[in-house]
Amino acid sequence: MKITDVRAVYPRYQHVVPSWRTHFWQIVVRVETDTGTVGLGYGGGGVAGVEIVNRHYRELLVGREVNTPKDIAAIWDHLYDQSLPYGRKGLAIMAISGVDLALYDLLGKAQDKPVYEILGGAQKSRVVAYATGPNSEMYRDRGFLHHKFPHRFSGDPADYETAATAAANARQLYGPDARIMVDCYMSWDADVTTRMADILSEHNLYWYEDVLTPDDLAGQADLRPVATPTLIAGGEHEFTQHGFADIARANALGLWQPDITWCGGITAGLRIIDLARAAGIPVSPHRGAEVWGLHLIAASDWADFAEMHSDHINAQRDQLWLDEPEVVDGYIAPPDRPGFGATLNEAML
Ligand SMILES: [Mg+2]
Repeated sequence: MKITDVRAVYPRYQHVVPSWRTHFWQIVVRVETDTGTVGLGYGGGGVAGVEIVNRHYRELLVGREVNTPKDIAAIWDHLYDQSLPYGRKGLAIMAISGVDLALYDLLGKAQDKPVYEILGGAQKSRVVAYATGPNSEMYRDRGFLHHKFPHRFSGDPADYETAATAAANARQLYGPDARIMVDCYMSWDADVTTRMADILSEHNLYWYEDVLTPDDLAGQADLRPVATPTLIAGGEHEFTQHGFADIARANALGLWQPDITWCGGITAGLRIIDLARAAGIPVSPHRGAEVWGLHLIAASDWADFAEMHSDHINAQRDQLWLDEPEVVDGYIAPPDRPGFGATLNEAML
């Protein structure tokens, strides 16, 4: 089938606080074809991402044939090459992600198959999920078996105690076999991480996430032996197979967390997973419980462990995508409907 039109839209979010992280600036990308089949994708970059898709990528896409994942990969390479002078990381790749996911959705709908079938079939019928957020007890009550709590280090020595208390509380709520993680969102540094590793070791955490800026690969590599057996995790702020190849070369991280709606979509996700498999590094995509990452995890022999953010667990949120899968008994499965299987709430466009 041939692409006849491409349009990106920034949705009309209602539950807005003054932070880009409210909706991660997520955009919707719609691809139309000469067969009438329409693909919908979810990318990043906000209104800037919308402009990149509508004013640049659209002219590169209209008229192209899309019938196989190989065609999508060739389109990905073309968009990457053409946007390279201003792209490579950040907004341009967040925008490519939306296009790439729309093309996978398109292929699934055209072949009447869920995306995990397009990717070769489900390797697992359901994926182990974990809940990210501050309400440790609530997530356990909702059926989650694993949990990641946030922690910010402000410079106050009392913050060590806060982390230890949260870790002890989570361990007590979820039990000795649960995976408990902490995301400090780049608020620790090397000294704080070293001291935290000592203080938190008794709680046997699975990983410390984003301890340093993602630009400091050598610093993170140095912290891996300090933290062990807890892993130094990260990657939600990295882009494409090229960025993750740098992480691999630097030995910077013990677990990779690409965001499939930011890092370059399924095409980049597959390439990143290939690099991770070769390096023996586990992959747990950022926000992997949302359908975009979930189909990839389900079809993968390597990626696992789906993250659900607290904004997806709380009732007070914008419902941009309807019919999203829910966690049952600690597991989540991708929809078996054609494409990604989530329904766009058109009223928000
Ligand atoms: Mg994070």
